[in-house]
Amino acid sequence: MTEKSEFFNPELETMDREQIEKLQLERLKTTVEHCMHSAFYKQRFKEAGLEPGDIRSLDDIRKIPFTTKQDLRDTYPFGMASVPLSQCVRLHSSSGTTGNPTVILHTQKDLNEWANAVARCLWMVGCRPDDVFQNTSGYGMFTGGLGFQYGAERLGMLTVPAAAGNTRRQLKFFTDFGTTVVHAIPSYATRIYEVMQQEGIDPRRDTKLRTLVIGAEPHSEEQRRRIQDMLGVKAYNSFGMSEMCGPGVAFECKEQNGMHIWEDYYIVEIVDPKTLEPVPDGEIGELVLTTINREAMPLLRYRTRDLTRIIPGECPCGRHHKRIDRMKGRSDDMIVLRGVNIFPIQVEQVLMRYKELGSNYLITLKTDEVNDSMTVEVELAQSYTGGHDAQKALIKSITSRLHDEILITPLVMLLQPGSLAQSEGKAVRVKDLRSVFK
Ligand code: ADP
Ligand code: ZN
Repeated sequence: MTEKSEFFNPELETMDREQIEKLQLERLKTTVEHCMHSAFYKQRFKEAGLEPGDIRSLDDIRKIPFTTKQDLRDTYPFGMASVPLSQCVRLHSSSGTTGNPTVILHTQKDLNEWANAVARCLWMVGCRPDDVFQNTSGYGMFTGGLGFQYGAERLGMLTVPAAAGNTRRQLKFFTDFGTTVVHAIPSYATRIYEVMQQEGIDPRRDTKLRTLVIGAEPHSEEQRRRIQDMLGVKAYNSFGMSEMCGPGVAFECKEQNGMHIWEDYYIVEIVDPKTLEPVPDGEIGELVLTTINREAMPLLRYRTRDLTRIIPGECPCGRHHKRIDRMKGRSDDMIVLRGVNIFPIQVEQVLMRYKELGSNYLITLKTDEVNDSMTVEVELAQSYTGGHDAQKALIKSITSRLHDEILITPLVMLLQPGSLAQSEGKAVRVKDLRSVFK
Protein backbone atom coordinates (compact mmCIF):
# COMPACT_ATOMS: atom_id res chain seq x y z
CA MET A 1 0.00 0.00 0.00
CA THR A 2 1.31 3.42 -0.89
CA GLU A 3 1.33 5.87 2.05
CA LYS A 4 -1.50 8.40 2.04
CA SER A 5 1.06 11.20 2.34
CA GLU A 6 2.27 10.34 -1.16
CA PHE A 7 -0.87 11.97 -2.57
CA PHE A 8 -1.85 15.62 -2.75
CA ASN A 9 -5.50 14.67 -3.01
CA PRO A 10 -5.74 11.02 -1.88
CA GLU A 11 -9.46 10.75 -2.60
CA LEU A 12 -9.23 11.79 -6.25
CA GLU A 13 -5.84 10.28 -6.98
CA THR A 14 -6.55 6.77 -5.70
CA MET A 15 -10.03 6.25 -7.15
CA ASP A 16 -10.41 2.83 -8.76
CA ARG A 17 -11.52 2.49 -12.37
CA GLU A 18 -15.17 2.17 -11.49
CA GLN A 19 -15.12 5.35 -9.41
CA ILE A 20 -13.19 7.22 -12.08
CA GLU A 21 -15.65 6.26 -14.78
CA LYS A 22 -18.68 7.08 -12.65
CA LEU A 23 -17.31 10.54 -11.95
CA GLN A 24 -16.39 10.98 -15.62
CA LEU A 25 -19.90 10.19 -16.80
CA GLU A 26 -21.44 12.63 -14.31
CA ARG A 27 -19.02 15.35 -15.33
CA LEU A 28 -19.38 14.64 -19.04
CA LYS A 29 -23.16 15.02 -18.84
CA THR A 30 -22.86 18.28 -16.90
CA THR A 31 -20.23 19.58 -19.33
CA VAL A 32 -22.33 18.80 -22.40
CA GLU A 33 -25.36 20.55 -20.87
CA HIS A 34 -23.17 23.52 -20.00
CA CYS A 35 -21.72 23.66 -23.53
CA MET A 36 -25.17 24.54 -24.85
CA HIS A 37 -24.42 28.05 -23.58
CA SER A 38 -21.70 28.25 -26.21
CA ALA A 39 -22.98 29.44 -29.58
CA PHE A 40 -20.41 27.21 -31.26
CA TYR A 41 -21.39 23.96 -29.55
CA LYS A 42 -25.07 24.70 -29.73
CA GLN A 43 -24.75 24.93 -33.51
CA ARG A 44 -22.48 21.84 -33.67
CA PHE A 45 -24.97 19.75 -31.75
CA LYS A 46 -27.81 20.98 -33.94
CA GLU A 47 -25.89 20.07 -37.10
CA ALA A 48 -25.14 16.63 -35.72
CA GLY A 49 -28.78 16.10 -34.72
CA LEU A 50 -27.62 15.58 -31.15
CA GLU A 51 -29.19 16.55 -27.82
CA PRO A 52 -27.30 16.68 -24.53
CA GLY A 53 -29.66 13.96 -23.28
CA ASP A 54 -28.25 11.58 -25.92
CA ILE A 55 -25.09 11.23 -23.82
CA ARG A 56 -26.04 8.42 -21.45
CA SER A 57 -22.80 6.42 -21.22
CA LEU A 58 -19.10 7.16 -21.60
CA ASP A 59 -19.14 5.39 -24.97
CA ASP A 60 -21.73 7.90 -26.16
CA ILE A 61 -18.92 10.46 -26.26
CA ARG A 62 -18.22 9.08 -29.73
CA LYS A 63 -21.47 10.58 -30.97
CA ILE A 64 -20.05 14.06 -30.35
CA PRO A 65 -18.20 15.66 -33.29
CA PHE A 66 -14.49 16.44 -32.81
CA THR A 67 -13.28 19.95 -32.02
CA THR A 68 -10.16 21.04 -33.90
CA LYS A 69 -7.54 23.74 -33.66
CA GLN A 70 -9.14 25.25 -36.75
CA ASP A 71 -12.43 25.59 -34.82
CA LEU A 72 -10.56 27.56 -32.18
CA ARG A 73 -9.05 29.77 -34.85
CA ASP A 74 -12.40 30.27 -36.59
CA THR A 75 -14.05 31.36 -33.36
CA TYR A 76 -11.06 33.47 -32.24
CA PRO A 77 -11.06 35.05 -29.77
CA PHE A 78 -14.21 34.46 -27.69
CA GLY A 79 -16.62 32.54 -29.90
CA MET A 80 -16.41 29.28 -27.99
CA ALA A 81 -17.05 30.61 -24.50
CA SER A 82 -19.73 28.85 -22.46
CA VAL A 83 -20.06 31.69 -19.93
CA PRO A 84 -20.43 35.47 -20.39
CA LEU A 85 -17.10 37.30 -20.58
CA SER A 86 -17.99 39.10 -17.35
CA GLN A 87 -17.43 35.79 -15.52
CA CYS A 88 -13.96 35.25 -17.00
CA VAL A 89 -10.90 36.48 -15.16
CA ARG A 90 -8.02 35.52 -17.44
CA LEU A 91 -7.17 34.40 -20.93
CA HIS A 92 -4.16 32.52 -22.17
CA SER A 93 -2.97 31.92 -25.66
CA SER A 94 -0.94 29.10 -27.19
CA SER A 95 2.65 29.83 -28.18
CA GLY A 96 1.63 29.62 -31.83
CA THR A 97 4.29 27.06 -32.73
CA THR A 98 2.21 25.79 -35.63
CA GLY A 99 0.25 28.83 -36.81
CA ASN A 100 -2.10 31.50 -35.54
CA PRO A 101 -2.53 31.59 -31.80
CA THR A 102 -5.68 30.37 -30.09
CA VAL A 103 -7.30 31.75 -26.98
CA ILE A 104 -8.57 29.95 -23.88
CA LEU A 105 -10.71 31.72 -21.31
CA HIS A 106 -10.77 30.93 -17.59
CA THR A 107 -13.13 31.66 -14.71
CA GLN A 108 -11.82 31.91 -11.17
CA LYS A 109 -12.97 28.34 -10.57
CA ASP A 110 -11.04 27.15 -13.65
CA LEU A 111 -7.86 28.77 -12.36
CA ASN A 112 -8.43 27.26 -8.97
CA GLU A 113 -8.84 23.74 -10.38
CA TRP A 114 -5.84 24.23 -12.63
CA ALA A 115 -3.66 25.16 -9.66
CA ASN A 116 -4.91 22.04 -7.86
CA ALA A 117 -3.95 19.86 -10.82
CA VAL A 118 -0.44 21.30 -11.04
CA ALA A 119 0.04 21.01 -7.27
CA ARG A 120 -1.04 17.37 -7.50
CA CYS A 121 1.58 16.73 -10.21
CA LEU A 122 4.36 18.39 -8.27
CA TRP A 123 3.46 16.58 -5.06
CA MET A 124 3.49 13.29 -6.98
CA VAL A 125 7.17 13.74 -7.87
CA GLY A 126 8.08 14.46 -4.28
CA CYS A 127 7.76 18.25 -3.98
CA ARG A 128 6.83 19.38 -0.47
CA PRO A 129 6.28 22.77 1.20
CA ASP A 130 9.91 22.94 2.36
CA ASP A 131 11.12 22.87 -1.26
CA VAL A 132 12.26 25.93 -3.18
CA PHE A 133 10.77 25.96 -6.68
CA GLN A 134 12.32 27.98 -9.49
CA ASN A 135 10.37 28.44 -12.71
CA THR A 136 12.39 29.22 -15.84
CA SER A 137 9.33 29.50 -18.11
CA GLY A 138 8.30 32.73 -19.73
CA TYR A 139 5.50 34.41 -17.77
CA GLY A 140 2.68 35.92 -19.72
CA MET A 141 0.58 34.30 -22.41
CA PHE A 142 2.65 31.10 -22.27
CA THR A 143 0.94 28.87 -19.72
CA GLY A 144 4.15 27.35 -18.33
CA GLY A 145 4.79 30.52 -16.33
CA LEU A 146 1.62 31.29 -14.39
CA GLY A 147 0.44 27.66 -14.56
CA PHE A 148 3.39 26.37 -12.55
CA GLN A 149 3.48 29.48 -10.40
CA TYR A 150 -0.01 29.01 -8.98
CA GLY A 151 0.41 25.24 -8.70
CA ALA A 152 3.67 25.53 -6.78
CA GLU A 153 2.14 28.16 -4.48
CA ARG A 154 -0.91 25.97 -3.93
CA LEU A 155 1.40 23.20 -2.81
CA GLY A 156 3.08 25.66 -0.48
CA MET A 157 6.62 25.81 -1.81
CA LEU A 158 8.73 28.92 -1.72
CA THR A 159 8.59 30.00 -5.36
CA VAL A 160 11.20 31.82 -7.42
CA PRO A 161 9.43 33.22 -10.52
CA ALA A 162 12.72 33.71 -12.35
CA ALA A 163 11.08 33.56 -15.83
CA ALA A 164 12.92 32.72 -19.02
CA GLY A 165 16.49 33.49 -20.04
CA ASN A 166 19.47 35.13 -18.36
CA THR A 167 21.04 31.85 -17.38
CA ARG A 168 23.75 33.34 -15.16
CA ARG A 169 21.06 35.00 -13.11
CA GLN A 170 19.20 31.69 -12.88
CA LEU A 171 22.36 30.07 -11.50
CA LYS A 172 22.79 32.82 -8.94
CA PHE A 173 19.22 32.20 -7.76
CA PHE A 174 19.95 28.47 -7.48
CA THR A 175 22.82 29.08 -5.13
CA ASP A 176 21.47 32.13 -3.23
CA PHE A 177 17.98 30.75 -2.59
CA GLY A 178 18.83 27.07 -2.29
CA THR A 179 16.57 26.03 -5.18
CA THR A 180 15.66 22.34 -4.98
CA VAL A 181 13.12 22.01 -7.82
CA VAL A 182 13.34 23.57 -11.27
CA HIS A 183 10.87 23.70 -14.12
CA ALA A 184 12.52 24.06 -17.52
CA ILE A 185 11.92 23.00 -21.08
CA PRO A 186 14.41 20.20 -21.90
CA SER A 187 16.45 22.27 -24.35
CA TYR A 188 16.89 24.92 -21.65
CA ALA A 189 17.90 22.33 -19.05
CA THR A 190 20.89 21.43 -21.20
CA ARG A 191 21.67 25.12 -21.66
CA ILE A 192 21.72 25.54 -17.87
CA TYR A 193 24.31 22.81 -17.63
CA GLU A 194 26.48 24.36 -20.36
CA VAL A 195 26.57 27.66 -18.51
CA MET A 196 27.31 25.87 -15.23
CA GLN A 197 30.34 24.33 -16.89
CA GLN A 198 31.50 27.72 -18.15
CA GLU A 199 31.07 29.20 -14.68
CA GLY A 200 32.79 26.29 -12.91
CA ILE A 201 29.61 25.35 -11.03
CA ASP A 202 29.20 21.70 -10.11
CA PRO A 203 25.45 21.12 -9.68
CA ARG A 204 26.01 18.28 -7.19
CA ARG A 205 28.49 20.18 -5.06
CA ASP A 206 27.33 23.76 -5.40
CA THR A 207 23.52 23.54 -5.57
CA LYS A 208 20.69 21.75 -3.77
CA LEU A 209 18.92 20.80 -7.01
CA ARG A 210 17.10 17.52 -6.62
CA THR A 211 14.12 17.52 -8.99
CA LEU A 212 13.62 18.82 -12.47
CA VAL A 213 10.30 19.09 -14.24
CA ILE A 214 10.76 19.04 -17.99
CA GLY A 215 8.09 19.38 -20.63
CA ALA A 216 6.45 21.56 -23.27
CA GLU A 217 8.47 20.05 -26.11
CA PRO A 218 9.12 16.52 -27.33
CA HIS A 219 12.22 14.87 -25.94
CA SER A 220 13.54 11.35 -25.90
CA GLU A 221 14.26 9.03 -22.99
CA GLU A 222 17.93 9.41 -23.93
CA GLN A 223 17.67 13.18 -23.53
CA ARG A 224 16.06 12.76 -20.11
CA ARG A 225 18.84 10.45 -18.93
CA ARG A 226 21.42 12.92 -20.12
CA ILE A 227 19.78 15.76 -18.25
CA GLN A 228 19.58 13.65 -15.09
CA ASP A 229 23.27 12.69 -15.32
CA MET A 230 24.42 16.21 -16.08
CA LEU A 231 22.53 17.94 -13.29
CA GLY A 232 22.43 15.11 -10.75
CA VAL A 233 18.64 15.28 -10.48
CA LYS A 234 15.56 13.19 -11.18
CA ALA A 235 13.80 14.64 -14.22
CA TYR A 236 10.06 14.12 -14.69
CA ASN A 237 8.12 14.55 -17.88
CA SER A 238 5.31 17.11 -17.78
CA PHE A 239 2.70 17.31 -20.52
CA GLY A 240 0.19 20.04 -21.13
CA MET A 241 -1.15 22.46 -23.67
CA SER A 242 -2.85 25.81 -23.43
CA GLU A 243 -6.10 24.42 -24.88
CA MET A 244 -6.30 22.11 -21.84
CA CYS A 245 -5.31 24.97 -19.41
CA GLY A 246 -1.57 24.37 -19.71
CA PRO A 247 0.71 22.26 -17.52
CA GLY A 248 -0.97 19.73 -15.26
CA VAL A 249 -2.71 17.57 -17.86
CA ALA A 250 -0.44 14.53 -17.56
CA PHE A 251 2.67 14.00 -15.47
CA GLU A 252 5.06 11.22 -14.65
CA CYS A 253 4.99 9.70 -11.20
CA LYS A 254 8.11 8.50 -9.43
CA GLU A 255 8.07 5.30 -11.52
CA GLN A 256 9.11 7.43 -14.55
CA ASN A 257 7.18 5.11 -16.78
CA GLY A 258 4.48 7.07 -18.58
CA MET A 259 2.46 10.11 -17.54
CA HIS A 260 -0.74 9.79 -15.52
CA ILE A 261 -3.44 11.78 -17.20
CA TRP A 262 -5.89 13.19 -14.67
CA GLU A 263 -9.13 11.54 -15.62
CA ASP A 264 -11.22 13.55 -13.19
CA TYR A 265 -10.32 16.54 -15.42
CA TYR A 266 -10.13 14.92 -18.85
CA ILE A 267 -11.60 12.07 -20.84
CA VAL A 268 -8.85 10.60 -22.95
CA GLU A 269 -9.25 8.89 -26.31
CA ILE A 270 -6.54 7.75 -28.71
CA VAL A 271 -7.72 7.63 -32.31
CA ASP A 272 -6.28 6.74 -35.65
CA PRO A 273 -5.60 10.20 -37.17
CA LYS A 274 -6.83 9.02 -40.58
CA THR A 275 -9.96 7.04 -39.78
CA LEU A 276 -10.63 8.81 -36.45
CA GLU A 277 -11.62 5.43 -35.01
CA PRO A 278 -10.29 4.48 -31.56
CA VAL A 279 -7.11 2.40 -31.50
CA PRO A 280 -6.59 -0.37 -28.92
CA ASP A 281 -4.63 0.45 -25.74
CA GLY A 282 -0.91 0.24 -26.42
CA GLU A 283 -1.14 1.47 -30.01
CA ILE A 284 0.02 4.90 -31.10
CA GLY A 285 -2.54 7.38 -32.35
CA GLU A 286 -3.71 10.95 -31.91
CA LEU A 287 -4.56 12.09 -28.42
CA VAL A 288 -8.13 13.42 -28.15
CA LEU A 289 -9.16 15.14 -24.93
CA THR A 290 -12.46 16.30 -23.49
CA THR A 291 -12.38 18.71 -20.56
CA ILE A 292 -14.87 17.69 -17.88
CA ASN A 293 -13.86 20.07 -15.14
CA ARG A 294 -13.93 23.42 -16.85
CA GLU A 295 -16.38 26.28 -16.81
CA ALA A 296 -15.41 29.16 -19.11
CA MET A 297 -14.55 27.21 -22.21
CA PRO A 298 -14.96 23.44 -22.15
CA LEU A 299 -13.67 21.61 -25.20
CA LEU A 300 -15.33 18.42 -26.39
CA ARG A 301 -13.22 15.76 -28.12
CA TYR A 302 -10.40 18.14 -28.90
CA ARG A 303 -7.94 16.76 -31.45
CA THR A 304 -4.57 17.65 -29.96
CA ARG A 305 -2.56 16.42 -32.98
CA ASP A 306 -0.10 14.93 -30.48
CA LEU A 307 0.81 11.33 -31.09
CA THR A 308 1.12 8.94 -28.16
CA ARG A 309 -0.32 5.71 -26.77
CA ILE A 310 -1.93 4.45 -23.59
CA ILE A 311 0.50 2.36 -21.58
CA PRO A 312 -1.42 -0.81 -20.75
CA GLY A 313 -1.40 -2.21 -17.22
CA GLU A 314 -1.41 -0.89 -13.67
CA CYS A 315 1.14 1.52 -12.24
CA PRO A 316 2.68 0.41 -8.93
CA CYS A 317 2.28 3.93 -7.49
CA GLY A 318 -1.36 3.32 -6.53
CA ARG A 319 -2.92 5.68 -9.05
CA HIS A 320 -5.39 4.19 -11.52
CA HIS A 321 -5.52 7.22 -13.79
CA LYS A 322 -4.38 6.04 -17.22
CA ARG A 323 -0.81 6.61 -18.32
CA ILE A 324 0.19 8.02 -21.70
CA ASP A 325 3.60 7.43 -23.21
CA ARG A 326 6.04 10.24 -23.95
CA MET A 327 4.97 12.13 -27.06
CA LYS A 328 6.22 10.84 -30.35
CA GLY A 329 5.67 14.31 -31.79
CA ARG A 330 2.82 16.21 -33.32
CA SER A 331 1.21 14.85 -36.44
CA ASP A 332 2.35 18.07 -38.15
CA ASP A 333 5.98 17.47 -37.05
CA MET A 334 6.22 14.37 -39.17
CA ILE A 335 8.73 14.79 -41.96
CA VAL A 336 7.92 13.03 -45.18
CA LEU A 337 11.19 12.75 -47.08
CA ARG A 338 11.31 10.78 -50.28
CA GLY A 339 8.18 8.94 -49.20
CA VAL A 340 9.57 7.95 -45.80
CA ASN A 341 7.85 9.16 -42.61
CA ILE A 342 10.29 10.44 -40.01
CA PHE A 343 9.81 12.07 -36.62
CA PRO A 344 12.56 14.43 -35.40
CA ILE A 345 12.57 12.56 -32.11
CA GLN A 346 13.95 9.48 -33.90
CA VAL A 347 17.01 11.50 -34.92
CA GLU A 348 17.38 12.79 -31.37
CA GLN A 349 17.26 9.29 -29.91
CA VAL A 350 20.24 8.26 -32.03
CA LEU A 351 22.28 11.41 -31.38
CA MET A 352 21.76 11.40 -27.62
CA ARG A 353 23.34 7.97 -27.31
CA TYR A 354 26.74 9.44 -28.22
CA LYS A 355 28.60 10.89 -25.27
CA GLU A 356 30.88 12.61 -27.81
CA LEU A 357 27.94 14.83 -28.80
CA GLY A 358 26.31 17.80 -27.10
CA SER A 359 22.54 18.22 -26.85
CA ASN A 360 21.89 20.73 -29.62
CA TYR A 361 21.10 19.65 -33.13
CA LEU A 362 19.30 20.91 -36.21
CA ILE A 363 17.73 18.97 -39.03
CA THR A 364 17.63 20.82 -42.35
CA LEU A 365 15.65 19.61 -45.34
CA LYS A 366 16.61 20.87 -48.77
CA THR A 367 15.76 20.31 -52.38
CA ASP A 368 18.77 19.23 -54.42
CA GLU A 369 18.77 18.87 -58.20
CA VAL A 370 16.79 15.68 -58.20
CA ASN A 371 16.07 14.63 -54.68
CA ASP A 372 15.20 16.09 -51.33
CA SER A 373 17.95 15.70 -48.77
CA MET A 374 18.44 15.89 -45.03
CA THR A 375 21.36 17.45 -43.22
CA VAL A 376 21.86 16.82 -39.51
CA GLU A 377 24.07 19.33 -37.77
CA VAL A 378 25.00 18.46 -34.23
CA GLU A 379 27.26 20.14 -31.70
CA LEU A 380 30.16 18.23 -30.16
CA ALA A 381 30.26 17.84 -26.38
CA GLN A 382 32.34 20.46 -24.59
CA SER A 383 34.62 17.72 -23.29
CA TYR A 384 35.28 16.27 -26.77
CA THR A 385 38.91 16.35 -27.86
CA GLY A 386 38.97 14.00 -30.90
CA GLY A 387 41.02 14.99 -33.94
CA HIS A 388 40.22 14.83 -37.64
CA ASP A 389 40.28 11.04 -38.01
CA ALA A 390 38.25 10.47 -34.88
CA GLN A 391 35.64 12.93 -36.12
CA LYS A 392 35.48 11.21 -39.48
CA ALA A 393 34.89 7.88 -37.78
CA LEU A 394 32.27 9.47 -35.54
CA ILE A 395 30.39 10.90 -38.52
CA LYS A 396 30.45 7.51 -40.19
CA SER A 397 29.04 5.79 -37.15
CA ILE A 398 26.28 8.38 -36.63
CA THR A 399 25.31 8.29 -40.29
CA SER A 400 24.97 4.55 -40.29
CA ARG A 401 22.92 4.46 -37.07
CA LEU A 402 20.67 7.21 -38.38
CA HIS A 403 20.18 5.25 -41.55
CA ASP A 404 19.16 2.19 -39.50
CA GLU A 405 16.62 4.30 -37.64
CA ILE A 406 15.11 6.50 -40.37
CA LEU A 407 15.99 4.61 -43.56
CA ILE A 408 17.49 7.74 -45.12
CA THR A 409 21.17 8.61 -45.30
CA PRO A 410 21.54 12.16 -44.03
CA LEU A 411 24.58 14.36 -44.37
CA VAL A 412 25.96 14.58 -40.81
CA MET A 413 28.00 17.61 -39.76
CA LEU A 414 29.78 18.07 -36.42
CA LEU A 415 29.85 21.59 -35.00
CA GLN A 416 31.78 23.23 -32.19
CA PRO A 417 29.80 23.58 -28.93
CA GLY A 418 27.64 26.72 -28.92
CA SER A 419 27.49 27.06 -32.72
CA LEU A 420 23.76 26.51 -33.15
CA ALA A 421 21.35 29.31 -32.36
CA GLN A 422 19.54 28.92 -29.04
CA SER A 423 15.88 29.83 -29.02
CA GLU A 424 14.37 31.47 -25.94
CA GLY A 425 11.29 29.31 -26.10
CA LYS A 426 10.74 25.87 -27.52
CA ALA A 427 13.71 24.56 -29.48
CA VAL A 428 13.49 24.66 -33.26
CA ARG A 429 14.79 21.29 -34.42
CA VAL A 430 13.75 21.25 -38.07
CA LYS A 431 14.30 23.74 -40.87
CA ASP A 432 12.38 22.84 -43.99
CA LEU A 433 13.84 24.66 -47.00
CA ARG A 434 12.41 22.29 -49.58
CA SER A 435 11.04 23.79 -52.70
CA VAL A 436 7.40 23.13 -53.36
CA PHE A 437 7.90 23.59 -57.11
CA LYS A 438 10.07 20.73 -58.18
P1 ADP B 1 1.90 25.56 -29.08
O1 ADP B 1 0.90 24.53 -29.55
O2 ADP B 1 1.79 26.83 -29.83
O3 ADP B 1 3.31 25.06 -28.91
P2 ADP B 1 1.43 25.23 -26.22
O4 ADP B 1 2.36 26.01 -25.40
O5 ADP B 1 0.04 25.12 -25.75
O6 ADP B 1 1.40 25.93 -27.61
O7 ADP B 1 2.06 23.81 -26.44
C1 ADP B 1 1.39 22.59 -26.31
C2 ADP B 1 2.08 21.53 -27.13
O8 ADP B 1 3.44 21.34 -26.68
C3 ADP B 1 1.45 20.17 -26.99
O9 ADP B 1 0.33 20.04 -27.83
C4 ADP B 1 2.60 19.27 -27.40
O10 ADP B 1 2.75 19.21 -28.79
C5 ADP B 1 3.81 19.98 -26.83
N1 ADP B 1 4.18 19.41 -25.52
C6 ADP B 1 3.81 19.84 -24.31
N2 ADP B 1 4.35 19.09 -23.32
C7 ADP B 1 5.07 18.11 -23.93
C8 ADP B 1 5.85 17.00 -23.48
N3 ADP B 1 6.02 16.74 -22.21
N4 ADP B 1 6.42 16.23 -24.42
C9 ADP B 1 6.26 16.48 -25.73
N5 ADP B 1 5.54 17.51 -26.23
C10 ADP B 1 4.95 18.32 -25.34
ZN1 ZN C 1 2.21 5.93 -11.25
